[in-house]
Amino acid sequence: MHYIFDNCDTVELAKEYGTPLYVMSETHIVERCAEIRRDFLEKYPNTKALFASKAFQTLEMCRIIQREGLGMDVVSGGEIYTAIKAGAKAENLMFHGNNKSQDEMDLALKEGVGTFVSDSLSELELLNERAGLLGKKASVLLRVTPGVDSHTHQYISTGHLDSKFGFSPNKVIEPGFLTGILENFDNLDLKGFHFHVGSQLMDNRSHVLATEIILNIILKVKKEFGFETKELNLGGGYGIQYAGEPERKPVAHFIEPMMEKIETFCKANDLTRPTIIIEPGRWICGEAGITIYEIGSIKEAATGRVYAAVNGGFGDNPRPALYQAKYDVIYIEDPEKPAAGPVTIAGKCCESGDIVAWDVELPELKRGDLIAVTCTGAYNYSMASTYNRNPRPALVMTKNGESRLSVKRETYEDLLKLEI
Ligand SMILES: *Cc1c(COP(=O)(O)O)cnc(C)c1O
Repeated sequence: MHYIFDNCDTVELAKEYGTPLYVMSETHIVERCAEIRRDFLEKYPNTKALFASKAFQTLEMCRIIQREGLGMDVVSGGEIYTAIKAGAKAENLMFHGNNKSQDEMDLALKEGVGTFVSDSLSELELLNERAGLLGKKASVLLRVTPGVDSHTHQYISTGHLDSKFGFSPNKVIEPGFLTGILENFDNLDLKGFHFHVGSQLMDNRSHVLATEIILNIILKVKKEFGFETKELNLGGGYGIQYAGEPERKPVAHFIEPMMEKIETFCKANDLTRPTIIIEPGRWICGEAGITIYEIGSIKEAATGRVYAAVNGGFGDNPRPALYQAKYDVIYIEDPEKPAAGPVTIAGKCCESGDIVAWDVELPELKRGDLIAVTCTGAYNYSMASTYNRNPRPALVMTKNGESRLSVKRETYEDLLKLEI
């Protein structure tokens, strides 16, 4: 019995479309969006959900996200261009990034991108100038670094925060800071605040802590400067089940305690509850993806470790090399076949760090066998490169037993197309 993914026979997918192959389940993506609608958008009025495009963006993904009622968080001119080409409404886009270029700002302003999230005065100055020149008013959220260490869940004293992202809470409440933005930048409409505590978080402590910190800021700026927060963006970062991790938590695990804090705090302090925005990426699409590879060379190192090399690796999934990310591997021709011992799945790039998975238990492998690496739907396709001039894999979307080619396999000819 072959490994079945979204009711598709994965061995058949490999035969039909070739390997390496990205497979993305539309079914899974649609289910996650439905969960967000049910447990966030429909449960709480005055809320918006955005998909963090950087996790996985194609024209088709943009269309699915739009159809499912979510907006998109974008971080570059390229992501804006793709979203607009896919038919996204610019007003449903939120433009992040710590260094937006003038060209990117102009593109966003002309297209009518809904909101800009900014974390530097120098950027706000330029944005104000460009908006003025183009006769636009730009809605703005300020990104705040709440000073929550998402790895240790320790509250780090604010004020000495060292991150390329965000304003520190102390900065935001400094006399003259907010009022300066309001007075000096006529073409900006300051709507509120944003935070994003980190990524791949399996519990809600950091989110809840950050919410508490931001609520206190909201109250303080209301009391001291009369600034009313109309929008609050709680970021993304909800984790998924990579190898060795616990199961993915429902979105409610993160949303409920934050919403509870926000609603209670606003009532107690006589604040109008702002529009609440979330922007998960990985949680929506990560478990939707698998990558199918074919086994090539197999050898035993002097240490006795067995290496089986696949026809992809670092180029289609740099995460093991970048973050020591761990992945599960499935022998898709017979997932129930008993393991024969640990084998290390190596990529084919000329980098020692190009290892797909260390010491995974698999049946004895031979050249030509097919395996799937699971949980590759986020930050794989979007991070892919043509390192070593390996063309990037094709991408297939599945929907409950049906499959369709969504992105063609790159060709050698494609590798040369920009060269003069
Ligand atoms: C990356 C990012 C997200 C999404 O992160 P996930 O971990 O994929 O949910 C959301 N907001 C901002 C600002 C980000 O940079």
